[in-house]
Amino acid sequence: MGGIKEKIYNSIPYPFKFILLNIKGYLNTKQRYNKEFESFLSEHIALWNADLETVTNFQKRKLAILLSEAFEYSDWYAPIMKELDITLNDIQENPIGVLKKMPDLKKTERKNKVDLIVNKKRKTAMIGHTSGTSGSPTIDYIDVESINASFAVWKRFHHVIGISPKSRQVRFSGRLIVDTKTKKPPFWVYNYFENQMLMSAYHLTDVNLKHYVRKLNKFKPELIDGYPSAIYIISKYINKNNIAISFAPKAIAVTAETLYDYQRLEIEKAFGCHVYNQYASSEGSPFITECINGNLHLNLDSGVFEFINTEGKPAQSGEIAKLVVTSFINYKTPLIRYNIEDTVELSEEGKKCDCGCAMPIIEKLIGREDDILWTEEKGYVGRMDTAYKGIEGIVKGQIIQDSPQVIIVNLIIDNKFDKKMKDNFLNNLKARLGENVEYQINIVDDILLGANGKFDAVKRNFKLDF
Ligand SMILES: [Zn+2]
Repeated sequence: MGGIKEKIYNSIPYPFKFILLNIKGYLNTKQRYNKEFESFLSEHIALWNADLETVTNFQKRKLAILLSEAFEYSDWYAPIMKELDITLNDIQENPIGVLKKMPDLKKTERKNKVDLIVNKKRKTAMIGHTSGTSGSPTIDYIDVESINASFAVWKRFHHVIGISPKSRQVRFSGRLIVDTKTKKPPFWVYNYFENQMLMSAYHLTDVNLKHYVRKLNKFKPELIDGYPSAIYIISKYINKNNIAISFAPKAIAVTAETLYDYQRLEIEKAFGCHVYNQYASSEGSPFITECINGNLHLNLDSGVFEFINTEGKPAQSGEIAKLVVTSFINYKTPLIRYNIEDTVELSEEGKKCDCGCAMPIIEKLIGREDDILWTEEKGYVGRMDTAYKGIEGIVKGQIIQDSPQVIIVNLIIDNKFDKKMKDNFLNNLKARLGENVEYQINIVDDILLGANGKFDAVKRNFKLDF
């Protein structure tokens, strides 16, 4: 939903919201889960357990289709390829070789040149809007085959972690499900066609949390998915108040934000089940999904992944790297060597997973590039969640870096956060970011959510030549 439709939805009373959301739910289900979807799904399930050669052959075939359509039907890619003397024959014979010749697609180009980038051959089935941190939305055109393919890869992830398509699900997302000003439940809307309870991430206040928990206990979801920050808040409330959960979810799947270790611990304790991490993006990037062994597999059947280190060179094992992706998830708005501005940590050399999936693994999803801080003393600092280790009394924390010299920390605390905790926390920060930085620790009542209702746990507000 975007623009005017969203405004209408937001302004109507709750019963109409339910009806409108379910009409939309019905139409979505019909479009997403058709015959093509079913055949994609079985193909991707088979690929999860296939040998690496089968997977890379599939990857090459999909890449050849993507590149040839870009060559023939994209006003952005066609001139670039012709300039590089690439021919359709080259694409058929050596798609990976052709890909390596292509320049990166930058975020600003993806955003501002989308009307040139689009593949004119494919019919638009849906237009999506992603509101980035900078405000103006990125438009995403998508065709029906790509919708089916992306839902197939996503449902394959569910299949791998033991969730069947008709399972009861609860989702926390950035969508405005109910009026943001409402003080009374329901803070959720049920989507009948997907057996999915959509819960608002904008009403998670101390007063409201008991209503959420009561609803969860009544609905008994088999899967909870969405923003880790929202699921974490509920988990913390459950653990703190020793609330008994009257259901046993099979899995919790988080996406869209960085998952921090302290969040994972709290969520797993509250719901007594494993938290699975997943990387995908509304712009249609390929998927990285966690398996039953807790390893993050690159879904090579959804795209091509390349990794660039902080010096701009191909990254080596164990390094922090930025992701450059080529995607089979959206053929209408082709992403070829797209610099998506997200970072990962690569696994140590030779590390393999024995879950039965041959696709390679990475160590960690770090998150957006502005999650990475930088100080002269310590250089790039990727994961700040460890700074909270052993510190009690912090309900919610946010670390903001406006310049290399100043770190601002906003904390919502409870009575356990005393002078000693504050000193320990400051020492933790200094250990990671250095002694020669000015630290401002602010105790606050509330921390506002960023774009799309995501919680910015760490944010750098100045540019780095990363
Ligand atoms: Zn695995």
